[in-house]
Amino acid sequence: MSTPTLEAPAPSALDDARAQLATATELLGYDEGLHAMLATPRRELTVAVPLRADDGEVHLFAGYRVQHNVSRGPAKGGLRYSPHVTLDEVRALAMWMTWKCALLDVPYGGAKGGVNIDPRCHSAGELERVTRRYTSEILPIIGPERDIPAPDVGTDERTMAWMMDTYSVNSGYTVPGIVTGKPISLGGSQGRASATSRGVVHIALAALRSRGIRIDGATAAVQGFGKVGRDTARFLAEAGVQVVGVSDQYGAVTATSGLDVEALSDHVDRTGSVVGFPGADALDRDLLLELPVQLLVPAALEGVLHEGNAARVTAPVIVEGANGPTTGAADRVFAEQGQLVVPDILANAGGVLVSYFEWVQANQAYWWDAQEVEAKLESRMLAAWDAVAGTAQARDLSLRTAATVLAVERVAEAHRLRGLYP
Ligand code: NAD
Repeated sequence: MSTPTLEAPAPSALDDARAQLATATELLGYDEGLHAMLATPRRELTVAVPLRADDGEVHLFAGYRVQHNVSRGPAKGGLRYSPHVTLDEVRALAMWMTWKCALLDVPYGGAKGGVNIDPRCHSAGELERVTRRYTSEILPIIGPERDIPAPDVGTDERTMAWMMDTYSVNSGYTVPGIVTGKPISLGGSQGRASATSRGVVHIALAALRSRGIRIDGATAAVQGFGKVGRDTARFLAEAGVQVVGVSDQYGAVTATSGLDVEALSDHVDRTGSVVGFPGADALDRDLLLELPVQLLVPAALEGVLHEGNAARVTAPVIVEGANGPTTGAADRVFAEQGQLVVPDILANAGGVLVSYFEWVQANQAYWWDAQEVEAKLESRMLAAWDAVAGTAQARDLSLRTAATVLAVERVAEAHRLRGLYP
């Protein structure tokens, strides 16, 4: 009789986030008590979100809001609509938000929210009702001084407008500072919609230069063609990089001489996918990650670079547009192969940086022009790059560990100065 083998489950995003924190606190020499404070969310809320569908049937979804840390200011983080959302995933994403805000030195803690709904399967009316009900359920713990949501996977500026309206109706007056990533006509910031991608590209160009790779004519592949991936491809092309492959959840396309990103964008507006773009070759969706390019930008989901494919990923520079795209196992393979991985908490922080600018503008009711937003975004992203690259070099650390150490130190310092109540 054969003995059944028990396989350990693959590490989750939360396992990876916790392992990254453990590495940082060990390097910093923190004791177990401080480590536990930093590892544990301050507050978690699970809510039931009932929806009366257009056909009259009632469906029930699970919603979450996790506030990981508030030592440096209000909690801040996106809201994700995806059928794969779990409480553990939201916990991991909330922890990364804490480090991201600290690394960019914006006065926020970290949070994240999620509803396990597939937005592609619902009408606009159904999504509006889900958003309003979810917002009502988490109302007691959000607010412009408490916790400020923003768009993430599966949500957008329309979702933020519904959240702002629901919160405002319950307050009895308009509260533009309750969410960021709003439509500009409702107090959104110039440059917010493209901020994450602009930041990714500022960092990607700095990373390529640090490896001695010429920008003009360098080759890149971008995974995901949503809010982050689409503009990343566009700004890379504008900078002279040849974007030779892009993918979305339906498939991938490639062109060795470089894709016409503007034309591809029009194709996606018309058809809903990159698949079938004329003049490009079709490619298996996941093989996009293995294209022989100089820059790879995963900008879709977590865990896509893993033990099973890392050895075949040859890009010398990997810039994490998505949150958590590289598992711990893949990180170790990339280190052995000598590849440079720029971590999410640095690379995609442009979104939360301009969210912070939006919140500042909303609180002052004074709006900046696009040039001002973009100049501030660039200088702060590049300052963060210099700080992380400098720390990595001085202390012989990976960029991920250097970024986490810098961020964790700032959060721990705020925690120490505030003291423990009571
Ligand atoms: P989105 O929903 O706008 O786009 C996601 C894209 O990924 C879509 O094009 C989708 O088709 C594609 N995709 C899904 N599964 C895929 C797969 N298996 N292979 C290839 N493509 C796939 O989401 P987004 O806002 O662009 O977020 C993408 C990532 O960036 C997430 O990890 C998110 O947390 C992170 N992020 C977003 C922001 C922001 O401002 N939106 C800021 C920081 C980080």
